Amino acid sequence: MNAADRRIALVTGANKGIGLEVARQLGKAGHRILLGARDKTRGLEAARALQAEGIDARHVALDLSDVASLKAAAADIEAHEGRIDVLVNNAGVAIQGDGLPGNVDVDVVRRTFETNYFGTIAVTQALLPLVKKSSSGRIVNVSSGLGSITHNADPDWPYAAVKLTGYNASKAALNMFTVLLAAELKDTGIKVNAVDPGYTATDLNGNSGHQTVAEGAAETVRVALLPDGPTGGFSNSEGVEPW
Ligand code: NAP
Repeated sequence: MNAADRRIALVTGANKGIGLEVARQLGKAGHRILLGARDKTRGLEAARALQAEGIDARHVALDLSDVASLKAAAADIEAHEGRIDVLVNNAGVAIQGDGLPGNVDVDVVRRTFETNYFGTIAVTQALLPLVKKSSSGRIVNVSSGLGSITHNADPDWPYAAVKLTGYNASKAALNMFTVLLAAELKDTGIKVNAVDPGYTATDLNGNSGHQTVAEGAAETVRVALLPDGPTGGFSNSEGVEPW
């Protein structure tokens, strides 16, 4: 594919885990990859790994909790690529000490929201003007089944025991952000969707997930590549997921 014809995809938190694999799969599908990472050394290393696989990739410094870095990233992309076709809001945290609502440390909940919710809003706002320059922008928010209020209310759900007050609620909030943003952008070509990767072996869970990162990235990539299709939805690899 001619470099000028490539769609441009920015993936946040792309130096490892599901984000790196989403970047790899979008790169293999012919996208130019802007590999968002807050740590320069880790970001450059990941970009080099993708380049070695023949992928058109470069690192973009981006920390969700640092507004100055978000502004600088937007200016950098404006100057070099001029637009973003696919924004994958993948960066997220699960913080040690998260737990039941009756006694969880409120600071853990607050710090989880700082990245997963406030940070995702901040990065989306910083980059939205560039997504609006795409003829068919896509925003994919990497959520979680743990963010489904329907699942959390079902005592028979396989993950019903995972009651993380900060993490689960931050992903439920991210789902709300998805629906609100999709509604705001409904008259543009931009589709906004939330995706549940499924339980995937990464550093986030001490590599306890039963899926590989290739499996964990698949639904995000599918939704990012949809030529047309739904907006304001929530899905996993088996189909529509309940809110
Ligand atoms: P991971 O391997 O721990 O990767 C998380 C990524 O987010 C890392 O690149 C990390 O950067 C980055 N990040 C964290 N805080 C950031 C910040 N303030 N600014 C910029 N980047 C930041 O976890 P993962 O499992 O791949 O998670 C990716 C996404 O999938 C998350 O949103 C997670 O909630 C979601 N998810 C995961 C699972 C699962 O089973 N793994 C299931 C459902 C949903 P550093 O390397 O610098 O820390």
